[in-house]
Amino acid sequence: MKKVFIIGGGASGLTAAIKASKNHDVTIIEKNEKLGKKILITGNGKCNYWNENQDINMYHSSSKEYTKIVNQINLVKAHAFLDSIGIVPFIKNGYYYPNSGQAISVVNALVDEAINSGVKIITEEVTSIVKKENKFIINNKYESDYVIIATGGKAAPKTGSDGTGYNIAESFGHNIIKPLPALVGLEIEENIKELSGIRLIGEIKLYINNELSQTELGEIQFNDYGFSGIPILQISSSAIKALDDNKNVSISINLLPNIADDILGLRSFLKVQDRHLNNKSISQILDQLFNYKLSNYLLKMSKIDNNSKIDKLTNDDLDLLCHNILNFNFKVIKDHGFENAQTTSGGIDLREINLETLESLKVKGLYFCGEILDVDGACGGYNLSFAWLSGLIAGEIK
Ligand SMILES: Cc1cc2nc3c(=O)[nH]c(=O)nc-3n(C[C@H](O)[C@H](O)[C@H](O)COP(=O)(O)OP(=O)(O)OC[C@H]3O[C@@H](n4cnc5c(N)ncnc54)[C@H](O)[C@@H]3O)c2cc1C
Repeated sequence: MKKVFIIGGGASGLTAAIKASKNHDVTIIEKNEKLGKKILITGNGKCNYWNENQDINMYHSSSKEYTKIVNQINLVKAHAFLDSIGIVPFIKNGYYYPNSGQAISVVNALVDEAINSGVKIITEEVTSIVKKENKFIINNKYESDYVIIATGGKAAPKTGSDGTGYNIAESFGHNIIKPLPALVGLEIEENIKELSGIRLIGEIKLYINNELSQTELGEIQFNDYGFSGIPILQISSSAIKALDDNKNVSISINLLPNIADDILGLRSFLKVQDRHLNNKSISQILDQLFNYKLSNYLLKMSKIDNNSKIDKLTNDDLDLLCHNILNFNFKVIKDHGFENAQTTSGGIDLREINLETLESLKVKGLYFCGEILDVDGACGGYNLSFAWLSGLIAGEIK
C-alpha cells in the first residue's frame, strides 16, 4: 500500500482521507488537538453543510475552468458521500443541516468514518514538506508517497487555517491568486455607530465605479464599523475584489423594499399613513416603519424636524426623505478582516492543477483540496459543498 499524508483535518481533509483510505495507508496531520474545529462554528453551530440549489453561479474563481471541478457528476458524488457517512439532513428552503441541529454531528460522522477506515491521526503543525526522489518528507520526519494539502484558506485563523498552506504550496513553485476575505462584513466611511445593533430587511445594491454590479435582499445588520448580514456577505466578495483593484465601491440600501421602490410610490404610501394616523408627526409615522434611532437619523439627514406634519412639508423635503429611505448610500472602504470572514477568495491558481484529479501540474504526487484552492462559494452551504466535493476528487488517488 502506498502512503498518503493529508495536511489538515478539516472538512476537505477528512473527506479526502476517507476516500483515499479505500486504497492507501492514510495519515492526517492536523495542528489542532481535535479535527474539524472550523466545522463546529459553521452555520452558527448548526452547520449548513449542503444546498439543494447547486447552481454553478454560486461558486466563484478567477479561473473560468473551475466548472471542471464543480460539475453535476462531482456534486452527485459529494451528496452521496454525505449520505454514506450517516448524516441525517434537516432541510429548510433547500439548506441542509444535520437533523440534530448540531455541527458536532457532522464532525463525528466524518471522524468516526475516518477512524473506522483505518486513517491515522497525528496532531502536529506541518512547517515543511520537501520532495526527495519519489518521496515527500514532512517536517523532516515523516515519509510519504503522496501528499494532499487541505489546510484551508486564511478565514477564521483561530480555527487553525492561518494561510501556512500557501507557503508550502509556494515552496513547490505554485502561484497563489491573492487571498482576500470573503463572506464578511463591510466597513464604511460614514459613521453609523448610533445605529449599531439595528437589523432590518433591506434590498442592497452594490455599485462598482458607479455601475450596478449586484443586488441582494435580506436581513441587514448595522454595526459600529458598517454592515453585515447575509445580503452583505453575498456582495462582499465582489466588493472586496473591487477595492483591491482600487475601484470605487459603494452600496445603496432600500430600507423599505416591501413597500416601495420609487419616490412616487413611497410618497403616496406616507401620505396614506398620514391620513390613516390622523395627521401625526413625521417621526411618529416613521417610528411605525423603523427602529426609532433610524427614524431620527433619516430625519436628521433629510433636515426635517421630528415634529413636522407631512402635509406641512414641501414636496422637495418629502422627496428628499423618500430618496434617503430608498437610497441609503454608503462608501465602502474596507472588509472586516479575515478574523471575521467565513471564507477566502483566491488561493492556489487552478491553471497549475489537473482539474480532474486536483494533482499539481508542477509536482507529481502533490494534491490540493478545499478552501486553499482558488474557488469560493456563496453563503448557504456552498463552501462546505466544495470542501466535500474537492476532498473526494483529491482522495481518489490511483
Ligand atoms: C464562522 C464561519 C461559519 C461558516 N459557516 C458555513 C456554513 O454554514 N456553510 C458552509 O458551507 N461553509 C461555512 N463556512 C466555511 C467553511 O467552514 C469552510 O469553507 C470549510 O471548512 C473549508 O474546509 P477546508 O477543509 O478547506 O478548511 P478548514 O476547515 O479550515 O480545515 C483546514 C484544517 O487544516 C489545519 N491546518 C492548517 N494549517 C496546518 C498546518 N500547517 N499543519 C497542520 N494542520 C494545518 C487547520 O487547523 C484546519 O483544521 C463557515 C466558516 C466560518 C469561519
